[in-house]
Amino acid sequence: MAERFDVVVLGGGPAGEHAVGRCTVAGLTTALVEQELVGGECSYWACMPSKTLLRPGQVLAAARRVPGAAQAVSGRLDADQALARRDWMTSGWDDKGQVEWLERVGATLVRGRGRLVGERTVAVDAGEGPARTLTARCAVILATGSSPFIPPIEGLHGIRRWDNRAVTSAKAVPARLLVLGGGAVGAEMAQAWRRLGTREVSVVEAAERLLPGEEPFAGEEVAGAFADEGIAVILGTKMVAARRVADDAPVVATLEDGRVMTADEILVAVGRRPNTADIGLETVGLEPGRPVPVDDTLCAAGVPGSWLYAIGDVNGRALFTHMGKYQARIAVDALLRRPVCDEADHGMVPRVTFTDPQVASVGLTERQARDRGVSVRVVRVPLQATAAAAVAGEDVTGTAQLVIDEARQVVVGATFTGPDIDGLLHSATVAIVGEVSMDRLRHAVAAFPTLSEVWLELGLAYRAGRASSDPDAKGAWS
Ligand SMILES: Cc1cc2nc3c(=O)[nH]c(=O)nc-3n(C[C@H](O)[C@H](O)[C@H](O)COP(=O)(O)OP(=O)(O)OC[C@H]3O[C@@H](n4cnc5c(N)ncnc54)[C@H](O)[C@@H]3O)c2cc1C
Repeated sequence: MAERFDVVVLGGGPAGEHAVGRCTVAGLTTALVEQELVGGECSYWACMPSKTLLRPGQVLAAARRVPGAAQAVSGRLDADQALARRDWMTSGWDDKGQVEWLERVGATLVRGRGRLVGERTVAVDAGEGPARTLTARCAVILATGSSPFIPPIEGLHGIRRWDNRAVTSAKAVPARLLVLGGGAVGAEMAQAWRRLGTREVSVVEAAERLLPGEEPFAGEEVAGAFADEGIAVILGTKMVAARRVADDAPVVATLEDGRVMTADEILVAVGRRPNTADIGLETVGLEPGRPVPVDDTLCAAGVPGSWLYAIGDVNGRALFTHMGKYQARIAVDALLRRPVCDEADHGMVPRVTFTDPQVASVGLTERQARDRGVSVRVVRVPLQATAAAAVAGEDVTGTAQLVIDEARQVVVGATFTGPDIDGLLHSATVAIVGEVSMDRLRHAVAAFPTLSEVWLELGLAYRAGRASSDPDAKGAWS
């Protein structure tokens, strides 16, 4: 017999969990269907373990920039301890804590693989016994996330390789690591493992620079840092073949220019595909294997009755945990028939690549803004124009750039690079989302000496009519 709930959420990653939380707060009876671990990719094989693996190297690098502290950290990073802390962060890949939270908020966890079998109905196969049938009075929310995309490179599908799961859960430091893909995941993991002790790390990226979705200077600065710490970066070249003669033999990869590269592990980090191949989309008139199309309330487009929603990576709009959670709030408000509009992924997505230097950005790049016909004005200043950069340590460099819609005199894009600049990002997001005028922004005074004073430098550059200031110049503090 079917079990009835107000809402059935399919997939317990950050988007699904957040939706469950919002539903239960609203007093809706809610079932969460999860086939693996409650917490999803983010908690166990993506954001949390990857940032934890990066952290020891970042702390060490920060200390080494400060005379006095540098002398105290002359030893090597302890990889075993770092991996143990990663294990702690993922609770040893055990979701007990998250299951307890579900119990506390009064949601029902249904373990097993779920799929739509018609309007408002989900069948759950737990592997043993008959499938359970769940029906939703109000809505079904799809939050099944995404999986790594493995490109059609000769030999690659048949060999043992690392994906985001293997690279974030590895138990030992490989001697040689080859990274296919120089986007955020590839760049972060290349640096994490290099700093954890991998002797040879190479990144192969088909585009002409690292982090191709970001401003060109961002990828260039990261590539410069990689060169300094011995990470090889090969740009503008595709991998065409990969093979291992045995499962435990080295991987030998061939690039299109004929170069042959040998490594112990190969990380494939070239993108994601939505988990929609086998969730019953065809039973409600949608196409399997593709991102679920949604409107601005996250309601599935083309499905009558406004009962099906899709949030997080599964809709392909903005593949970040914070965006999945934002969409969860929008979707739950929408199913409660509150007026909403998901507009944050229309060009305002904040994102951070947690390399050293970090790259934090929100809104449009200069190129995107020009392509949209915005009357673009760009101002760019060096981070070292702030006193805080000098206090942070020696050779602390970076860049802050605003893309300004000159017609409206508002910021439409911002990019910051440098160590520990992620804290600057939200001020830019507020300026963009709030459409705060450049004139008004000058009254948002930043405390001295914080990196936020880079906003003062940006404002001065804007009013002075400069496109960018001299990268060697000291700022107002000097
Ligand atoms: C290495 C790496 C690092 C990242 N770092 C960051 C970061 O620092 N910050 C950030 O914002 N984003 C980061 N991301 C992206 C982030 O992990 C994803 O955007 C986020 O996990 C998406 O959340 P989700 O809930 O949509 O899906 P997921 O986290 O993928 O969760 C989906 C869940 O659905 C379950 N599921 C799937 N199909 C079914 C089914 N049929 N039945 C039952 N359950 C099912 C899965 O088991 C899974 O638990 C990173 C990604 C990677 C790969």
